[in-house]
Amino acid sequence: MEAKQYVAEIQKYLEEKDPNQSEFLQAVEEFLPTIVPFLEEHPEYVENNILGIITEPERMIQFRVPWQDDAGKWQVNRGYRVQFNSAIGPYKGGLRFHPSVNLSILKFLGFEQIFKNSLTGLPIGGGKGGSDFDPKGKSDAEIMRFCQSFMTELSKHIGPNLDVPAGDIGVGGREIGYLFGQYKRLREYDAGVLTGKPVNFNGSLGRTEATGYGAVYFVKHLLQDKGDSFEGKKVLVSGSGNVAIYAIEKVHQLGGTAITCSDSNGYIYDKAGIDLALLKELKEVRRARLTEYVKERPEAEYYEGSVWDLEKAADIALPCATQNEIDEVKAQRLAANGVKIVAEGANMPSTMAAVKVYHEKGIYYGPGKAANAGGVAVSALEMSQNSQRLSWTKEEVDQRLDEIMLNIYETCRDTAEKYAEKDNFAAGANIAGFEKVAKAMLAQGLV
Ligand code: NDP
Repeated sequence: MEAKQYVAEIQKYLEEKDPNQSEFLQAVEEFLPTIVPFLEEHPEYVENNILGIITEPERMIQFRVPWQDDAGKWQVNRGYRVQFNSAIGPYKGGLRFHPSVNLSILKFLGFEQIFKNSLTGLPIGGGKGGSDFDPKGKSDAEIMRFCQSFMTELSKHIGPNLDVPAGDIGVGGREIGYLFGQYKRLREYDAGVLTGKPVNFNGSLGRTEATGYGAVYFVKHLLQDKGDSFEGKKVLVSGSGNVAIYAIEKVHQLGGTAITCSDSNGYIYDKAGIDLALLKELKEVRRARLTEYVKERPEAEYYEGSVWDLEKAADIALPCATQNEIDEVKAQRLAANGVKIVAEGANMPSTMAAVKVYHEKGIYYGPGKAANAGGVAVSALEMSQNSQRLSWTKEEVDQRLDEIMLNIYETCRDTAEKYAEKDNFAAGANIAGFEKVAKAMLAQGLV
């Protein structure tokens, strides 16, 4: 069968099988057509139905998470772990705590994670998990009781050589600490079972910063390749969580100016550049909303709605909040604002129509599975340090991160030139990520 026809049949099959999993279908639809040129060159993958197999998670676990709130009332949430692919290493991917979490979102994230992890060049498979629990407005004690209940079930399914979760939206150092404590009580002290741990108990220096820094390094290497740099560039950033904060920090270190950040209610426009010390204080210490930012920095402006509605000249956009935040209209606005590069700190923040606009307008596009791979890469470095019972310096980790991001950039660029068009980094990322996993699956008997 022709590769193109095979891909269309797989897409149709998946649409009929799980018509309600819109995010998962979107991730698959973005991915599959781009690998057709590679499949044409490798008919053995078509003959062995690799796409039918790779789009089906190896295992999905769903469980109830009962927990008691501060008023003594019993609450219940749904917990999940999607163990998508272990061809090149133990399942690896974050846990997301957000009310929107469902199987479709976790399958999209887990599917992308397979190829992202492959691109890092490190031995890690793909997985993702989480819960529809909403950490917002909860006390520390409630978060702790929820995490303990969640891990009571999850601990039966993970392990340093099996599945190593980390953080994602709503899961940072505090949550990883509580999850780790409960795992230890139930099983044994094994540092390698979770990454993103605080540095005082086997976390890696530089992990907190890694996703944001990595996304900026990806752009730095792209700019260098084009004979340019961050110096003097205006950067639009969305989000104000872990990824956004450290993307802003690295932009400023490299001579650019991040002029926006956002949360799910609104956004800040600070033309002098986001005050990072204030943002960290608000988000990492006080866990406050962005409305507080303008109270302490009245020269900045706060608006309700999406940061991508802002009409201000800028050079680079770094979406670092959540999936599908940039649609076609917002992508057109980015182009009208003069943006020349979009690199995704978040996972799938651009709809397919938005990506089409980037290509039409000649905007360089760094897809999440390449641009935000720095987080999981440093998680894999944390696993190495845990196995060695050593801890590397922050400088060493950061240097390795920069090298990994350079390697990812070059891999995407070179693979795009070989199989697609020049500078189509999305096609490059998809094909390069897929090639390694598919080869391993075939060698292992497609199990
Ligand atoms: P955080 O929970 O630390 O921050 C998330 C930020 O995004 C917050 O500012 C949040 O605002 C905003 N946000 C969340 N949901 C929405 C929404 N529906 N609409 C608008 N804004 C929203 O998460 P991270 O920074 O860790 O993750 C951000 C993105 O980066 C995600 O797509 C994640 O999958 C991706 N990512 C994260 C990695 C990591 O290492 N942490 C690694 C690779 C990718 P509010 O506070 O109002 O909810």
